Amino acid sequence: MDLLKKRIQEVGCVVSNGVVKLDAILNHQVDTELVMAMGKQFAERYRPLQPTKVLTVESSGIAIAFATAYELGVPLVFARRKKTPTMDKEVYEERVPSFTKGIVTDIVISANYLNQDDRVVLIDDFIANGDAARGIIRIIDKAGAMLVGVGIAVEKAFQPGGDSIREMGYEVYSLVRIQSLENGQIELE
Ligand code: 5GP
Repeated sequence: MDLLKKRIQEVGCVVSNGVVKLDAILNHQVDTELVMAMGKQFAERYRPLQPTKVLTVESSGIAIAFATAYELGVPLVFARRKKTPTMDKEVYEERVPSFTKGIVTDIVISANYLNQDDRVVLIDDFIANGDAARGIIRIIDKAGAMLVGVGIAVEKAFQPGGDSIREMGYEVYSLVRIQSLENGQIELE
């Protein structure tokens, strides 16, 4: 996606250990026009698959997943990173290593918002090792729902996540792929 590539070239930087900082457009401040355009692109791709729900993990995937769900006219469900006192009793829960924080966190979705009739599009901002995506996929399996597509804004193609999800038999569609971050330079494909 040319607009996302252009914005990454303008504002992106490499922080450390294979981590890209996009705080100016996605991860802290949100470029709403860009994110709505990303949602349109994902929606165009997934509309023929008749999804009933868009899923993501809080917090950085939410804006893009919202834009996608809005364009598709379906609800967005975001997995929470901890159970809240108001949360329903019946939940699907998975333990997932966090790439940027270097810790393991639980991701939780209420059983009320995911069921066997759902056709799910999974949306996230980045894919690195694929742990977040695999955690959500395990939750989708537990709920008996069907994953129809995985849409990623930025795939770091030099890390194994995207291909590991493809090897599981799912289609991964990335708007932008980063080839390398060597010498602190963001090389886009
Ligand atoms: P994975 O589970 O695939 O290893 O990592 C994906 C998650 O980690 C994404 O949800 C994203 O929030 C975060 N993440 C992974 N790589 C990066 C990165 O380079 N920059 C930022 N800002 N977040 C990342």
